[in-house]
Amino acid sequence: MQKTENTKFELPEDLKKCVDFHGHLCPGLVYGYLVAKEALNLLELKRSRDEEVVAISENDSCAVDALQILLGTSIGKGNLILKDYGKNAYTILNRSSKRAYRFSRNQSYRYSGEPKEEFDRLDAAISSGAATEKEKRRHKLLKASDLLSRPFDEVFSTKEIDFFMPPYAPLARSEACAKCGEMTMSTKMVAPEDSKRICIPCSRETKTG
Ligand SMILES: [Zn+2]
Ligand SMILES: [Zn+2]
Repeated sequence: MQKTENTKFELPEDLKKCVDFHGHLCPGLVYGYLVAKEALNLLELKRSRDEEVVAISENDSCAVDALQILLGTSIGKGNLILKDYGKNAYTILNRSSKRAYRFSRNQSYRYSGEPKEEFDRLDAAISSGAATEKEKRRHKLLKASDLLSRPFDEVFSTKEIDFFMPPYAPLARSEACAKCGEMTMSTKMVAPEDSKRICIPCSRETKTG
């Protein structure tokens, strides 16, 4: 099986698009890719232009970029919500059909591709902190290609959950910060004791000195 540095040439078209956007192929991106593909199937979705899809990612890793490309969810549109829990878990909702699924990576997933000895050696080098950049890249590539060859259920658990409406980012008027003068969303302003409303960065400067 010739899946070495050439892995890139064997990638499916939709994954290539994710790699182009993200800048490299890595296990994180593949996690997002797998979840997005499964969600598109289960929710009978096409890529979202009109925000009927909402993605909630419980981490801010490379995976998020694949969700953006394949599901059309983005921070700017408000249909991509990041929760910084450091968990390899994602909830994808379809607003029009009112269905939702949560995907969470299985504890039991283990690398089982070839060459196994090379992977184990690289894995050990990474754990001990001795791996070179080249070894780290190779490790990522092996893991990414292993993930791509597994059945989805081996990597992720899928659960249909009750649909809920994720809150939209509220629109709010802007006002000038009393300290730096920059226009800031009024709901994001803070008012320390002197009651002058200031922006968050200015409030931190005040505290630290
Ligand atoms: Zn990455
Ligand atoms: Zn300010």
